[in-house]
Amino acid sequence: ARKFFIGGNWKCNGTLEEVKKIVSMLNEAEVPSKNVVEVVVSPPFVFLPLVESLLRPDFQVAAQNCWVRKGGAFTGEISAEMLANLGIPCVILGHSERRSLLNESNEFVGDKVAHALSVGLKVIACIGETLQQRESGSTMAVVAAQTKAIADKVSNWANVVLAYEPVWAIGTGKVATPGQAQEVHLELRKWLHDSVGAEVAATTRIIYGGSVNGANCRELAEQPDIDGFLVGGASLKPEFADIIRSLT
Ligand code: 13P
Repeated sequence: ARKFFIGGNWKCNGTLEEVKKIVSMLNEAEVPSKNVVEVVVSPPFVFLPLVESLLRPDFQVAAQNCWVRKGGAFTGEISAEMLANLGIPCVILGHSERRSLLNESNEFVGDKVAHALSVGLKVIACIGETLQQRESGSTMAVVAAQTKAIADKVSNWANVVLAYEPVWAIGTGKVATPGQAQEVHLELRKWLHDSVGAEVAATTRIIYGGSVNGANCRELAEQPDIDGFLVGGASLKPEFADIIRSLT
């Protein structure tokens, strides 16, 4: 069985005081054991070492991005090697906000995923269609192309979690219905089966992101191909603990 995976993407939010408060809230939360649910929270880079040092040991931290290659003369970038060196185990790559606002292409995201994996990081790789793409019927073509650009460069999927985040559901309060999400997750699993292999399809966690909250998480979590969530806004609030408990 695939272990349930809950990611909290804090995005570009938080002051030092707020970050400490969120960590205390997380540290006090009653949640299932890490054998049942894997929990990863992703603060902005500048807070990563602090959060890593304060956070309960059964939760992990993730960066929200990293550079595509080894470090060097790339002003403003953070390399995957640096994250690994600091003991940061995981990184989110290909978030739709970076794809759209910073023009990260499918190929660029594929290169980033491959490089991060090569230095031993776990990767939460994000994919998802826009509203226009959904309405024109190209959802599956879009997410398949995004996944293919990753699959073309990755041979070992053991450290990859795939996050399906429909762009129209992110930060909008307009969550995908359990049926809509399950449909895409199942198609993605079929795609992995046919294009990568049966074992990878059966074992890779496919998590859903986009307006997940304490009230809608349980119904989504019941879907057979939804293996967890990537949570934005609600990951900054106490209800994140309810989302971590959504399977129980
Ligand atoms: P919201 O949960 O705020 O919609 O954000 C989802 C997201 O983008 C997580 O990466």
